[in-house]
Amino acid sequence: MREIKHWLNGAAVEGASGRRLPVWDPATGEQQAYVVAATAAETANAVAAAKAAFPAWRAASLSRRAEVMFRFRELVDANRKEIASLVSQEHGKTVADAGGELARGLENIEFAAGAPHLLKGGYSEQASTGVDVYSIRQPLGVVAGITPFNFPAMVPMWMFCNALVCGNTFVLKPSEKDPSVSLVLADLLRQAGLPDGAFNVVQGDREAVETLIAHPDVQALSFVGSTPIAKTVYEQGTRAGKRVQALGGAKNHMVVLPDADVDAAADAAVSAGYGSAGERCMAVSVVVAVGAVGDPLVAAIKDRIGRIAVGPASDPAAEMGPLISREHRDKVAGYLAGAGAAEVVVDGRDAPVSAGPGFFLGASLVDKVPTDSPLYTDEIFGPVLSVVRADTYEQALELVNDNEFGNGTAIFTRDGGAARRFQYDVNCGMVGVNVPVPVPVAYYSFGGWKSSLFGDLHMYGPEGIQFYTRSKVVTSRWPDPASSEIDLGFPKVR
Ligand code: NAD
Repeated sequence: MREIKHWLNGAAVEGASGRRLPVWDPATGEQQAYVVAATAAETANAVAAAKAAFPAWRAASLSRRAEVMFRFRELVDANRKEIASLVSQEHGKTVADAGGELARGLENIEFAAGAPHLLKGGYSEQASTGVDVYSIRQPLGVVAGITPFNFPAMVPMWMFCNALVCGNTFVLKPSEKDPSVSLVLADLLRQAGLPDGAFNVVQGDREAVETLIAHPDVQALSFVGSTPIAKTVYEQGTRAGKRVQALGGAKNHMVVLPDADVDAAADAAVSAGYGSAGERCMAVSVVVAVGAVGDPLVAAIKDRIGRIAVGPASDPAAEMGPLISREHRDKVAGYLAGAGAAEVVVDGRDAPVSAGPGFFLGASLVDKVPTDSPLYTDEIFGPVLSVVRADTYEQALELVNDNEFGNGTAIFTRDGGAARRFQYDVNCGMVGVNVPVPVPVAYYSFGGWKSSLFGDLHMYGPEGIQFYTRSKVVTSRWPDPASSEIDLGFPKVR
């Protein structure tokens, strides 16, 4: 069986721990490979490699670092199909969906190639007589990224493109569930001219993560995953004196006002609820139907569910693939079994594909979900769309604002004033107006509020550049020896 290796100092290396973690083919339910979980010592080797590579990479000129990003962009673009199909093989999402993930990853590389513009400092000439003051941004050193299974190519690119172009060196700990693509990206970075050791991959799980958190040579941690782990990584990382940004889970509400176009809202709810089998942190998992739109909207969503083609990524007609693992599929199905007072309109467990050996579950729709039901309170992360009924805009807004999570939200309406009010009132990091999955483009930054993000800076975009650099302010005078004098007073502006 194929072993998925680590990447150290510019080459793939075998794992030595003997602790093998299975990598499944979610479409067939069979194991296709294994990854050997890194020990603390192996993880420390990767940090040491990154530390050794840091001085030279930091010293590389801005144009040289940008050039590596340009070349990397061309290589990822040239290998799009192969990377997308590798993502699909291990994750299960359709090849078209994996292509979309890559397109959004490419945006981040392009942004990083232009980062020298954001690395410019400020300059104040004559801040005092004969004194100039200027700021510069410098890299942190070795930084680490810990990433989830659901975007094995894009989320690492959210992190390492900006980290590297700023002059840091990087250790990636990808999800153990779909780890192969990390090695392809590592090899393309090498081909793009990144020096050996500047980018390393340690495969594994908690042990590797805990080593990175505790390691004194790791200056910053970027984490994306579920909320409980994000919170722990944030707390432990900051306690260890590191800069941390930890993005967690979500429960994204799509508010549909009575004046919305029902067909357009239903199309959006189905696309955002069941795309990637609901395994997106920006998936819509709750539709809040306001007033009379409820019944026609539920009917329109139900009608569309019947037309979703569920199948393996190898089938070009498939629109929705399996879930990541058997345990996860069973957990998601458990929410339907425990629906209680809620009305299960479409039960994905009845779909023929759910009976197969793969980790499939048909798209499911549950209406009139009470807000104390686990269907509403939990992040399900599967193809289960809950509908909550609200009488007024205010009630709908309260639901979004009272929710533990604040990643994304969307409003569907034809009333510009109502949309503007929602954008102003809502406690959420990313808002869509008639856009169900409002993932910001790479030149903005990505991040939620509340339990969806721990830390001060959002990921990628301008805040990503801030996260991976620290500023230094220089106050400088080139004195004229003729005017030099002793002054014991506190320096003041003259
Ligand atoms: P996860 O939290 O299980 O795993 C994320 C990473 O943490 C993986 O690399 C994993 O190996 C590691 N990990 C797991 N358990 C750990 C532990 N006890 N200690 C230290 N590290 C540990 O998440 P997942 O199942 O891979 O991904 C799905 C979750 O990620 C969902 O909650 C989803 O909402 C979230 N997510 C959030 C965003 C965002 O931008 N906010 C984006 C994508 C995914």
